Amino acid sequence: MNDVSNLRLSEILTHLGEDREHYFHAVSPPVIQTSNFVFPNLPAFREAFSDELEHHVYTRGNNPTVAILRKKLAALEGTEDAFVFSSGAGAVAAAVISNVKAGDHIVCQQSPYSWTTALLTKFLPRFGVEHTFVDGTDIRNIKAAIKPNTRVLYLESPNTMTFECQDLAACATLARQHGLVTIIDNSYCSPLYQNPAAFGIDIVVHSGTKYLNGHSDVVVGVLCASKAMVKKIFESELMTLGGILGPHDAALVIRGLRTLPLRLQRSDESAKWLIEKLESHPKVERIWYPFHHRFPQLELAKRQMRGCGGLFSVQFKTDTMEKMEAFVHRLERFLMAVSWGGHESLIIPTIGFYNVPGRATNPPIPWTFARFYIGLEDPAWLWEDLEQAMEAL
Ligand SMILES: *Cc1c(COP(=O)(O)O)cnc(C)c1O
Repeated sequence: MNDVSNLRLSEILTHLGEDREHYFHAVSPPVIQTSNFVFPNLPAFREAFSDELEHHVYTRGNNPTVAILRKKLAALEGTEDAFVFSSGAGAVAAAVISNVKAGDHIVCQQSPYSWTTALLTKFLPRFGVEHTFVDGTDIRNIKAAIKPNTRVLYLESPNTMTFECQDLAACATLARQHGLVTIIDNSYCSPLYQNPAAFGIDIVVHSGTKYLNGHSDVVVGVLCASKAMVKKIFESELMTLGGILGPHDAALVIRGLRTLPLRLQRSDESAKWLIEKLESHPKVERIWYPFHHRFPQLELAKRQMRGCGGLFSVQFKTDTMEKMEAFVHRLERFLMAVSWGGHESLIIPTIGFYNVPGRATNPPIPWTFARFYIGLEDPAWLWEDLEQAMEAL
């Protein structure tokens, strides 16, 4: 596997892209908080407009602080270039929209991230782009869904609730045979635990809001691809839709990246420790986690991923919704909130999506199910909380 070695990782996170001689040899890069850049003369003016992605013209196109972050992210994913957006949803939308036109078709792994689903089912149909969702755990389903007008194969492996995986090498090979652009949402693994470009995937997107920034204080999207693909997206979706990341947020993400390996390792180890504890608890029915011995795609997950991080799901053994609600309310150290990848441990109980005012249907996932994210706290302190709360089940 063409993964980033630990030595290379240190180089990327500590030095790459940081031209300190250009800013007083400061250790931390400055936040170049400017909208526009000055030209000393007409030749420089003309030169700059020959390539707005490379030169300094206007911060929507290129900003030196943002550029440092882009270099680090491309290196982490092993792609030629990267772009950052004002959200993960913005990165997903730019990746997809840039590769379709009216009359085209997209094959997508079933039940991706909620707003990716909305992009495919609500937004793109207005512009004449159709889609088919497939169970991507079997490559034959993907193959069967490809039509003459299919242009994009969209993957999310693993997803962030039940963790189904797609065989990335097989998907890339199949897509190449049919001339499709492959896109993957790699947020679950982060670049540390999976590098889809090494398997031949064309565009790797992330919600950098999660592990990459890692402190629950910035919403950011990442898109990693070849220079040609990034330039194509830059000249169209990025510059026209304008969903850029500002320099101040970019500096925060650079700061977050410094500790990415430490944070991910801590979440990964703590999650494993808690899973082992939960496994033998009488109120636990089943655990969902890609490296769990009962995970149906364990072999595939181990083949293409180097780790899992802090996300896992649990199905509890209990007989009434009241008991499940009492369990959720007794938790004091897990915060009930969306998102994940920050310093704080979280729970999303499926029961919270049952009987929601204004929603016609309940989710397909049982109300005994909850998704956990393990942050940076002491796992023993988290276990105390889980143990006392499970008494309510
Ligand atoms: C959070 C998330 C997104 C959306 O990213 P934002 O930064 O919130 O816009 C996309 N995909 C996955 C898997 C996510 O978890």
